[in-house]
Amino acid sequence: MPTFDVQQFRQQFAFFQQQPEWVYLDNAATMHKPQAVIDAVTQFYQQYNSNVHRGAHQLSQRATTLFEQARSTVASYINAQHLHEIIFCSGATAALNQIAFGLMHTVLRPGDRILLTQLEHHANIVPWQLHCQRFGVIIDVVPLTPDHQLDMAAYQQLLQLKPKVVSFSHISNVLGHIQPVADMVTLAKAVGAITVIDGAQGIVYQQPDMQQLDCDFYVFSGHKLYGPTGIGVLYGKTEQLARLTPIFAGGEMIDSVSFINTTFNKLPFRLEAGTPNIAGAIGLSAAIEWLQKYNNQQIVQHKSLLLKEFYTGLTAIKAIDILSSSVHNAGIVALNVDSEHPADVAELLNQQQIAVRSGQHCAMPLFSYLARPGAIRCSFAAYNTLDDVNRCLLALEQAVEILTA
Ligand code: PMP
Repeated sequence: MPTFDVQQFRQQFAFFQQQPEWVYLDNAATMHKPQAVIDAVTQFYQQYNSNVHRGAHQLSQRATTLFEQARSTVASYINAQHLHEIIFCSGATAALNQIAFGLMHTVLRPGDRILLTQLEHHANIVPWQLHCQRFGVIIDVVPLTPDHQLDMAAYQQLLQLKPKVVSFSHISNVLGHIQPVADMVTLAKAVGAITVIDGAQGIVYQQPDMQQLDCDFYVFSGHKLYGPTGIGVLYGKTEQLARLTPIFAGGEMIDSVSFINTTFNKLPFRLEAGTPNIAGAIGLSAAIEWLQKYNNQQIVQHKSLLLKEFYTGLTAIKAIDILSSSVHNAGIVALNVDSEHPADVAELLNQQQIAVRSGQHCAMPLFSYLARPGAIRCSFAAYNTLDDVNRCLLALEQAVEILTA
């Protein structure tokens, strides 16, 4: 297989052209945007800005066509069976809130159980918790193994409690570990559970195939797939989306309204109240079309090379406490310098224009389990280079010297 041309890829990003001094390793928080995305969003606002679905004029028709084409781009990217199974929303958080709200009002009953895992992002914990307490639904949690992978034996045992919903992340946003989602879906379905996958980190690692994966819901945010912020996708199978009570109500999602009664629009519009993020959807579609010009296998190989170099370098630095495993890892490494505060380490890196994230990464239950106050997180994207890896390693070495002197 020919190798990935990282320099050509990197040239697509104005950020790296204009500020080459930055080593950007905060990709799990958000990615930089290629020019193709910036151009698509700018073009929308400059040339045919108008609202969708309701205008008689040509501008609105053009905006509607492009917005609906964006739905189609997303549907074929994740191989959804139907266009109406793609619901645009503001991001993974909004999508998970919609699913939790929707299922709590229709499917779940007092005494029912839902199953989450120890490494979930708060966005896949709190929306459930908000309603569980009120509706008397019980949350069970799958623990981790000593090497911080999901404990599949415990998962299978907890499935015996017959949860109505099983919701888990495709890839941990802290550790980078890739979950065995296909097996997890199969096992959950065998006990009749509804399956929800938080694909916020998974979407950029791999092009997920909804019909093959056969999960009921898969959610992600555009900004972690080189797209704009404020746009995200809630994928759901038709019959599951039909069961969701809308979390938002208003324009677009109705068929007819009177003070006596309201009837609702068909999918996907029933779950898309109000003016959608039109520019965001067009930008996300541009990101997907642009990304498809590259070979994902080459990108995965490139990122695993960066990861390998990073691990080799890290293990040679004394006082580094690595929390992530190097196997089944999508390119995210959580680490600490001895018991130094992660914010101090991140600040020393920042002084050398190396962008990493520090703290608990919206995963406090995971950090309680790991018994660490937090970590710094280095997350790699396709535009990162071996030079980025080496600069980060050198800066970490210097941080160790300063902090442990
Ligand atoms: N789940 C995971 C695994 C994430 O990494 C994130 C973003 N950090 C979210 C959910 C929430 O995504 P957003 O903030 O874009 O809604």
